[in-house]
Amino acid sequence: MRSLPGGANGTEGLRAQHLSQILTMVHRGGPLSRAELTRRSGFNRSTVGALVSALTGKNLVRETEPAVGGRVGRPSPIVQANPGVAVIAVNPDIDALTVGVVGLGGHVHARVRRETPGVPSLEDAVRLTGEIVAGLHPALAGLDRVLGAGIAVPGLVNADTGRVLVAPHLGWHDVDLTGPFGSALGLPAVAANDASLGSLAESIFGAALGVGDALYLNGSASGIGGGIVSGGAQLVGSRGYGGELGHTLVSPGGRACHCGRAGCLDAEVRLERLLGAAGLDGGGIEALERVLAGDPPEAVRAEADRQLDLLAVALTDFVNIFDPDLIVLGGFLGALVEWRGGRLADAVNTGSLAGRVTVRRAALGPELLLVGAAELAFRPLLAFPA
Ligand SMILES: [Zn+2]
Repeated sequence: MRSLPGGANGTEGLRAQHLSQILTMVHRGGPLSRAELTRRSGFNRSTVGALVSALTGKNLVRETEPAVGGRVGRPSPIVQANPGVAVIAVNPDIDALTVGVVGLGGHVHARVRRETPGVPSLEDAVRLTGEIVAGLHPALAGLDRVLGAGIAVPGLVNADTGRVLVAPHLGWHDVDLTGPFGSALGLPAVAANDASLGSLAESIFGAALGVGDALYLNGSASGIGGGIVSGGAQLVGSRGYGGELGHTLVSPGGRACHCGRAGCLDAEVRLERLLGAAGLDGGGIEALERVLAGDPPEAVRAEADRQLDLLAVALTDFVNIFDPDLIVLGGFLGALVEWRGGRLADAVNTGSLAGRVTVRRAALGPELLLVGAAELAFRPLLAFPA
């Protein structure tokens, strides 16, 4: 036994907590000067100096001298999270598998999207991930460390175990993801719902940065998922299954939904229907962006307007329930906002009782879910850098 309770272990515990605070600050908000870290942390200058030195010693942060300006006095060194400390991020969907290498600071070193001939089985997804990661060897070889893997799944994922209860569109039921992906990559793996991770990424690095009450909806090929930040905390429910905003009724008696009801947002507002209106069979969100950026044909305009109006029905309910300051839309919903966000915001603000919400497109674009999945994989390091 090295020490008695409350002795050195207590001090070490406190120091570990301080290291965690400083590393998290530069990871999420960096690069930051030592002076800014001192201001934000409330620690004194010498404590910040010692903590930064300890993190530099572990190669988790790097310090650089700032550009010399005209100011009097010695400028404060700039502290940056080391992007060479990275994780693998994986996002399986019904039409493609996307894999990324993401470094501290949210830096995406590489992103590979591989379309699949059909809906991938878990075995397909694991094998394809292994192949893509093997192909990323040159990018990985230049890194200092790869810590683990984070998986963003379009389905209900248990927050404690990472086990998928159901990913309906993928057809994955009651399966463990962390074991198979972890063994294929030789790394510890963690998993969570894709939209919750998108919401997390946007609130740390994107459009909802610093917003305490925000609502996030992600539209993927699989469907629509949500994330809710209320009073600065993410609402996930008792087991992590909360935020399934896609199964909100927007069209009573409408199209059948896989959840067993009819007229859910998830059944009515769909990427493949927009692509279909453009005569496309695949191509994902990027293909839709190209169609909308040009002069979209009448069939696409009509379908996009129909979907925007139904989206407004759901968002109006969410504004009445959660009273967010901001709604962030990612994936193909972001493409719809880019095309005609004014129509959506007007309908929501007219329809909701309080009516003063801002609707914005997710800022992280195609990297969104990868950055979110990476954040999950970085959690152990950020919590305990020592
Ligand atoms: Zn449904």
